[in-house]
Amino acid sequence: MEPPVEIPYGHQSVDAADIEVVIAVLHSDRLTQGPEIERFERALTEATGASHAVVFSNGTAALHAAAAVAGLGPGDTVVTSPLSFVASANCARFVGATPAFVDIDPATLNLDPRGVPTGAAGLVAVHFAGLPLDLRQLAHRPPVVIEDAAHALGARTPDGPVGNCAHSDMCCFSFHPVKAITTGEGGAVTTNDAGFAARLRVFRNHGMERSRDGAPWEYDITGPGWNYRMTDLQAALGTSQLSRLAAFVGRRNELADRYRVVLADLDVELPPEAPTGFTHAYHLFPVRVPDRRRMFEGLRSRGIGVQVHYVPIHHFTSYRDVATTDLPATEAAYERLLSLPLFPDLSEKEQDVVVSALQ
Ligand SMILES: *Cc1c(COP(=O)(O)O)cnc(C)c1O
Repeated sequence: MEPPVEIPYGHQSVDAADIEVVIAVLHSDRLTQGPEIERFERALTEATGASHAVVFSNGTAALHAAAAVAGLGPGDTVVTSPLSFVASANCARFVGATPAFVDIDPATLNLDPRGVPTGAAGLVAVHFAGLPLDLRQLAHRPPVVIEDAAHALGARTPDGPVGNCAHSDMCCFSFHPVKAITTGEGGAVTTNDAGFAARLRVFRNHGMERSRDGAPWEYDITGPGWNYRMTDLQAALGTSQLSRLAAFVGRRNELADRYRVVLADLDVELPPEAPTGFTHAYHLFPVRVPDRRRMFEGLRSRGIGVQVHYVPIHHFTSYRDVATTDLPATEAAYERLLSLPLFPDLSEKEQDVVVSALQ
């Protein structure tokens, strides 16, 4: 039997204030579709600099909604990074589009922006580990650019916070407990386009629209939609968590800097650093090691919850039909990647336990 994980790779940071705001919602009249949704959405626009934020039940729902309202569909090729969580590619399939992969740049572990082909209708731009993909370097800007910023809330580019959509149509976030802030399950889309924002709200709520001149009970279903709503309990938690985003990302950067110092003499390739003008969100600390299986098992046997991000998406059975010729940089990185524990409440003592286990 596997020993219990004592130091996980990621963990939420929930404090007394977070707990209090959730209890307050439980005492209120509105557990869902109440005022906390709009409050959280306003806080997200302030944190990202986008004009609009629409929250969702999870990050995957946010990606689905963004792909749908952007008009992606059958006949469209949507490119993304093969080194990501499967939702980055699944969102294309949800709308009947065809996912395709662009190999990573081993220097950033992000999709190589120079490799985006001319024919792509859409790009799902993943900011792997929290290091922003530099969208200014795109060889071709597809008609639709959606950021998968599940790793990158709190990251910055020279053009401002990730989420301000400086070079994209929409930007998607996840608030799963391992991410920068949590609502348990949760997600959001930010955009500067009022039309997209309005359609995202309709898509989130069954495709339902009310007209001003109809009878008070009347509504219309104007297109496809799901129940992708977030609850007010979650939104209140999200607003409370978001007020500590800078502290969370600051602490992640402190711990990452410390890893770089204490791992300097080991046979370990450190993660790509943020270039000048960028801030890394350090959702992950993915090192590259020789003999990854031995390292993985050795650390796990010492109670250290290392993880591999990610099994490349084109390796999955369900993605075998995707025409992938050659993704050599992704294959080479995947052989050696290992994510070390990194989260705001990780202590330096725990970090030292990880380092001596690696040693
Ligand atoms: C977490 C994650 C998602 C999905 O978010 P959920 O909230 O878990 O649905 C999508 N893309 C990436 C890259 C992720 O890490």
